[in-house]
Parts: sequence; C-alpha cells; structure tokens
Amino acid sequence: LIAVNADRLRADFRALCEIGRTQAGGVSRTTFSDAHLDAREWFLRRAVAAGLETRVDAAGNHSAVLAAARSSAPTLLLGSHLDSVPDGGRFDGALGVVAALEALRAVNDAGLALPVALEAIDFTDEEGSLVGLLGSLALAGALTQELLEAPRGGRESLVAELARVGLSEAQLKDARRPPEALAGYLELHIEQGPELQRHRAQIGVVTAIAGSRSFRLLFEGAARHAGTTPMSSRRDALLGAARFALLVRDTVVDRFPGCVGTVGAIEVEPSAFNVVPGRARLLLELRSPAAEQLDALEAQLFRSAHRAAASDGLDLTIERVGRWDPVELDAKTQAAIERGAQDLGLSTLRLVSGAGHDAQALAPVTRAGMIFVPSIDGISHDPAEHTSWLHCLNGANVLLRAALSLAQSSSG
Ligand SMILES: [Zn+2]
Repeated sequence: LIAVNADRLRADFRALCEIGRTQAGGVSRTTFSDAHLDAREWFLRRAVAAGLETRVDAAGNHSAVLAAARSSAPTLLLGSHLDSVPDGGRFDGALGVVAALEALRAVNDAGLALPVALEAIDFTDEEGSLVGLLGSLALAGALTQELLEAPRGGRESLVAELARVGLSEAQLKDARRPPEALAGYLELHIEQGPELQRHRAQIGVVTAIAGSRSFRLLFEGAARHAGTTPMSSRRDALLGAARFALLVRDTVVDRFPGCVGTVGAIEVEPSAFNVVPGRARLLLELRSPAAEQLDALEAQLFRSAHRAAASDGLDLTIERVGRWDPVELDAKTQAAIERGAQDLGLSTLRLVSGAGHDAQALAPVTRAGMIFVPSIDGISHDPAEHTSWLHCLNGANVLLRAALSLAQSSSG
C-alpha cells in the first residue's frame, strides 16, 4: 500500500515552520516578505532535492512537477499556499504545500507511471496582502483588470511589490492555463473552524466554499472642538460607524443565520482626545455559501445604513472592494476523498468551508476538491493555530490516495 513518508513530511513541515517564525510560535509570511520569498525558495530546493522538475509561472506560482510519460498529458494540481496573514499560524497553507510535495515524492519513489502529470503548487498571495487568490485566479484565467485596479492591499502596494520581486502586472495573466491542460485540483488544508473536532471526525470532505464580499465604508461628519460643541449639534463620524457595526451584527443574527458579517477595522480622523471625529473609515466583510443570501443581506444592510447615517447627519460612501462568489466543489472528487479516507479507516464529515481558498478560483475551470483536517478549538490566523500531527499525516495520506484515484481514472 502506497503511503507518504511520515518522517520526511514531518521534517519538511518543521523546517518550514522556522521560516518567518514569530516569537509567539506562529509564522509571519505576508506576500513577498523576505520570509515568504525564503519559504518559496526552500520549497523549490526541496523539489530539486527530490529529483522533481520545478517551475515558476508569470504570476509567481511556484511548482514542483512529476511529469507523465506522455508529454501532452493533462496536469493534476495538488497545492495550497506558503504566504500567511501577519502573525499567522504554522499550518494554514503550509501543510497543504508540504503534503503536496510529499505526495509527488511518494509516487516517484513507488515508480508509478500515471496518465497525468502531478504538480505540487504554491499559489501566490492566497491570503490577500495584495489581491487575494492572486496566483490561482491568474492560473484559472479569472484575474480581471478590475481586481488589479482596486486590490485589497491598495493599488500602490501591488505595483511596488510586483516590481520588487520582478513580476510584471501586464504578464500576470500569462499564467493562465487552458482548462483542457488540467486534470483537476486537490488541496489539503486545516479546517480553521470547529466542526470536525465537534463531530469527532478525522477528515473533512468540503462540499462548497462560502462566497464573500468586502467593502470600504466612509462616514463623514464634522471635526469640531470636543469642549465647545454641544452634544446635540455634533456630526460624529465614529458614532455612525459604531452604530453600523452593531447593525451588521443584529441584521445577520436576526435575519441571516446562514451568513456571517464582520467589521474588521475602524479608523478615525483626526483621532484625538479633544476633537469630535470627522471621518471614520470602516472595513466590512460578508460571507455565505448562498449568493442570493449575500444579495439580500447586502441590500438590507446598506439601505438601513444610509437611513441611519442620514438621521445622524453623516454622509456615507460605500465602495465595493472584493467579491468571491460561492462555489460548489466537484462531486467525483468528493467521492474520491471519501473513499481514500475509508480505505485508511478514517471517519469523514461533509462540510462547507467558511474560509476562502484557492480551490474557489479553480473550481469554475477544473474538478476541484478539498480535504480538511481538524483545527484544535477551531483557532486559525493566530499563532495558537494547531492540528495534531497524526491528523496532518492522515490528511496527507488521504491527499495521496485521492490524487492517485483521480489520476488513474482520468482519461488523460
Ligand atoms: Zn489557507
């Protein structure tokens, strides 16, 4: 029975945890930071050491490739991302990349000839310091000019960072691969939520990925003297923003139980003891697995927000920053993951991913599937993020089995 080499996988994972390691025991590898670039170089070195081919595409995606006997064979992608949020955890993304690399080595070691090429891929900027899903969208041919013009991390930062690492904005789209060149995409990832632990399931089979919409809101009132401006005549932008944050929570909880909504930041100007805030900028994100729920939530929320702002004497501007539609993952791939887990005697649970992933970008163009392993207490994007090593190893073996099953059933 083919299996991953547990010691080799663990040594790789540990080595990767040291790159960009933080004092709190997590990692900080935001897109194109020194630590991120070091991690990517390390990945290519490990691929070369294993006798695999390597490639870096026009979007900076880094890959290890195990070629098929037939050069025209399509490619089954296995992957995730080596970038992290600032002060993130060790497992998010990293586990999927080392497990993908290990799956290629295991197939190579076993001398198996497959009708497809296998490619372990580290996608650029999954977490979105710059754009979010930058590499996977480019590969899927879904990187739009609109996204590049108004990216999450700001236009200036995108332009500067691409130049710094020698990527050309105009050429990012050359990373597109035609759908017929792809045999599918499989990603092992930590759950980042509490469901697997709650159900005592060892392997999560992801059925769909929630969509998300993000917005910048600007409340504008008037910056006035905090001592001389009567309470009744203030136009306090922070109060408007605070009211809005409560409105988001109440609207979601009362009327949209399938959604989540988050105000992740409020910035106030002038930001002083003795000045009534004249401006408040706020970041809002809404998520749901159902697009029509997002439509309805967005409409209701913004209607109420405009009404509330007007009654507080504030101007409100809402700018849409990003939009990922919810996607369903491939049924055949879900079955292959389930069979792989069952063969290993592992319990499975079907679930929706509330977090975004590269699989979301790839699902519209190829068969995409995701394997989740349990996150202790559901903690993620934090140094306390943890998954037991046995679960990581189980996940890697399910990835390998599902990949083989999909590769062998692929007509090529
Ligand atoms: Zn991730």
